[in-house]
Amino acid sequence: MALTSRPRGTNDIIPGEIELWHELEEKIRQVCHAYGYKELRTPMFEHTELFQRGIGDTTDIVEKEMYTFVDRGKRSLTLRPEGTAPLVRAYIENNLGSGALPIKLFYYGPMFRYERPQAGRYRQFVQFGFEALGSSDPLLDVEAIALPLELYRSCGLSGFEVELNSIGCAECRTGYRNALTAYFEPQAAKLCGSCQGRLHRNPLRLLDCKVESCQAVAKDAPLITEYLCSDCADHFSQVQKYLDKLDIRYTLNPRLVRGLDYYTRTVFEVTSSELGSQNAIGAGGRYDGLVQELGGKETPAVGFAVGVDRLVLALRNQGKLQPSISGPAVYLVHFGGETKEKAAEIAHALRGRGLWVELDLGDRSIKAQMKAANRLNSQYVLVIGEEELSQNQAVLRNMSDGQEESVPLDELEPLTKIVGACAK
Ligand code: AMP
Repeated sequence: MALTSRPRGTNDIIPGEIELWHELEEKIRQVCHAYGYKELRTPMFEHTELFQRGIGDTTDIVEKEMYTFVDRGKRSLTLRPEGTAPLVRAYIENNLGSGALPIKLFYYGPMFRYERPQAGRYRQFVQFGFEALGSSDPLLDVEAIALPLELYRSCGLSGFEVELNSIGCAECRTGYRNALTAYFEPQAAKLCGSCQGRLHRNPLRLLDCKVESCQAVAKDAPLITEYLCSDCADHFSQVQKYLDKLDIRYTLNPRLVRGLDYYTRTVFEVTSSELGSQNAIGAGGRYDGLVQELGGKETPAVGFAVGVDRLVLALRNQGKLQPSISGPAVYLVHFGGETKEKAAEIAHALRGRGLWVELDLGDRSIKAQMKAANRLNSQYVLVIGEEELSQNQAVLRNMSDGQEESVPLDELEPLTKIVGACAK
């Protein structure tokens, strides 16, 4: 059983499905190019402390969801549960802030969280994320919202919504934390164990607890928007002004706080009506304190992460991103013996020119070979008969209209030209 079933919460992406991913990856690269983001790849695992410091000790991710292990050198390592902290670590370590700022970077790859699996929520999932470091301009926050919307739109996804909030800076949060503690303290008995533990250490986390009884208490909690300092309030109103100018629609949600400690000021989440309870297809925000927290210079930054598995699910539910089904450029039909040797030679040469070529391996009948060519949706069939071979010729059949022509085999140029023109 264990040998033939994958670990809980993981997925195989098989041929027929992977094409959707490839199309999406291509679109991600296109939209990143338009906004000037360059790819950065970090390791799949990091020192555990990076996430404890970066994401925050009292978050669900760090408390309950990390795949942490001790390696043979007795180091505590963790499979990355998200991409921002590793990217910021790489930014500092590689001194990427020494050039022109802001620097715009993106990542794409698997993340790991020990969550309860369900449709759209996995233990290994792919995130595409992008981060701009080195500017606090509210227009950059707006670009960080516009970029994923452009991606969703270019994939043909509809029915997505943007929720927006500002959670202020460390300064305005001091007053807010006190207000939250004062609000939750008298009701502590109604909170789950985790929330009771976080009440004094990080009361903001109580706002995104998923336990129902905690949500019932949290629903009347004070709102951060009433505690924003004038700089943060001004920054937030500029974000909204630019969004309005660019005609990007959004809903203000003063309860949106996000589950990671590093956020400051603008936070946003995009949901899709095409998904069930796990309807968030991406989320992000500003994190002006993280670079310094991880040992770098004070550097404002903003970013966003798209859940690619969920995007694929939403697109599939909408019937979008149907992969084009293409077959081999040419299927080589032979009669065994010397004709098979010639087929092998031609296949080798054409494959070397990048064409998809198939040939029969089992010395089957001509009828069986033609059937196989059809089943694979081959665009051409080249029949290499004994008599034709003696004259260095073969018959090329166009499978879409049944037209046949004789092609020379001593030079491959004519054949390459014909089958290559049709190949995708
Ligand atoms: P987060 O890093 O928690 O802000 O998540 C950003 C996005 O990643 C979410 O909006 C989801 O689309 C996706 N995501 C997060 N956790 C999971 C998961 N366990 N399985 C699949 N997608 C996820």
